[in-house]
Amino acid sequence: MSKVIILGSSNAIPTRDHENTHMVIVGNDRMVLVDSVSNPILRLEQAGLDFNDLTDIIVTHFHPDHVSGLPLLLMDMWLMGRQKPLNIYGLHYTLDRVEGMMGFYNWSAWPNFFPVVFYRLPASEMTPVLNCDDFIIHASPVNHMIPNIGLRIEFPQSAKKMAYSCDTEPCGEVLRLSTDVDVLIHEATGDEPGHSSAVQAGEIAKQAKAKKLYLIHYPTGRFANGDPVAEAQTTFPGEIILAKDFMSLEF
Ligand SMILES: [Zn+2]
Repeated sequence: MSKVIILGSSNAIPTRDHENTHMVIVGNDRMVLVDSVSNPILRLEQAGLDFNDLTDIIVTHFHPDHVSGLPLLLMDMWLMGRQKPLNIYGLHYTLDRVEGMMGFYNWSAWPNFFPVVFYRLPASEMTPVLNCDDFIIHASPVNHMIPNIGLRIEFPQSAKKMAYSCDTEPCGEVLRLSTDVDVLIHEATGDEPGHSSAVQAGEIAKQAKAKKLYLIHYPTGRFANGDPVAEAQTTFPGEIILAKDFMSLEF
């Protein structure tokens, strides 16, 4: 059975129990990290996972709260003697900057670095990202301050479907990504440009006929305000859950 583990649930400002938003998709053969923040190795270890088992990384967009942990993760994999290849997926805009960032670390001069294969995705709707026995992943551009993607993940073994909005204003792309999913993980940063409020997340979930809504990327700890679940309930009649770090969703 495949599962998705929430490794962080906070907006850009983490608090003690809420790391920046990122997650890992775990199947029988593949383990896919969605964004790499802070030090993902610690988060994966706390979730009972070994970072060397990662096969793929999807980088949604080049904001620090989604990508800043990538150089450290790659360096630590190299220090542990990794030899097997690692696939990294993202938009051209994103991966150009990821390679530039690694260039500042002069990583091409690090001896015996394991193969890293970059897959540059076109900014078009329902772009295939990964298709394996465990899951089928598609990406669509969403409406953020910089180029960004949301994801739709299908789990063939259970016939379940999940969508992840990533950071976005309400838009047709995120609605279509989320159509008829069993689980929609939607951001709830607030009603501001490039983001969505919990009320807006509920509207998307309702229009998409999602069965269950998880709110993520919301203000946490001492920065928390309001009651995101109650706010989303004003627009979405289904089950709503506030995503928390280390929640595990089974598919
Ligand atoms: Zn962002």
